[in-house]
Amino acid sequence: MSLIEWRDVFDDIFQDYSDTWSLNQAHRNDKNLFNRLQTQNCLTQTRYAGFHCPKCSHYWTSARAKVDLYYPKSHQSLGQVKLRLYGQECLKCSRKMVYYVDPIFSIDVIQIILEKLHERVGWFCYGKERPEKTVTDTSDRGRVMNGPHEKELCEACKMGRCDQV
Ligand SMILES: [Zn+2]
Ligand SMILES: [Zn+2]
Repeated sequence: MSLIEWRDVFDDIFQDYSDTWSLNQAHRNDKNLFNRLQTQNCLTQTRYAGFHCPKCSHYWTSARAKVDLYYPKSHQSLGQVKLRLYGQECLKCSRKMVYYVDPIFSIDVIQIILEKLHERVGWFCYGKERPEKTVTDTSDRGRVMNGPHEKELCEACKMGRCDQV
């Protein structure tokens, strides 16, 4: 998992705010953390990503890779963003026990997601103008979803958080 790439882009985009902002990953098993995060704002994105199983090297892609980004409300202390990645199970390895592989997004997609977040934070935390709905967002447009979504293997589906119906 390449949190480094997320952080590089994040640091770049968020340096214009007066507070110091940092991005950290919220690990799926940290239940206490998720309870605390329920009081925060959340930006949800579903995008195209690759998955690379570290156990068997199987590689696959999905247009249904989902992330949540938790950021503070204006009255909360500013500066912390938590990234929650929703994984998918490897078709080849998941027979015996559930094992989620985190999505790998291209830099372009990370950039789009974090720019959206940056606008939201500007709006909610710094009283900037409300972001327009039509942010240039062509990255996923052309990608038609090939084949059915493997609900059985999708963490977000299992949690009732996937957009796919
Ligand atoms: Zn595997
Ligand atoms: Zn799903």
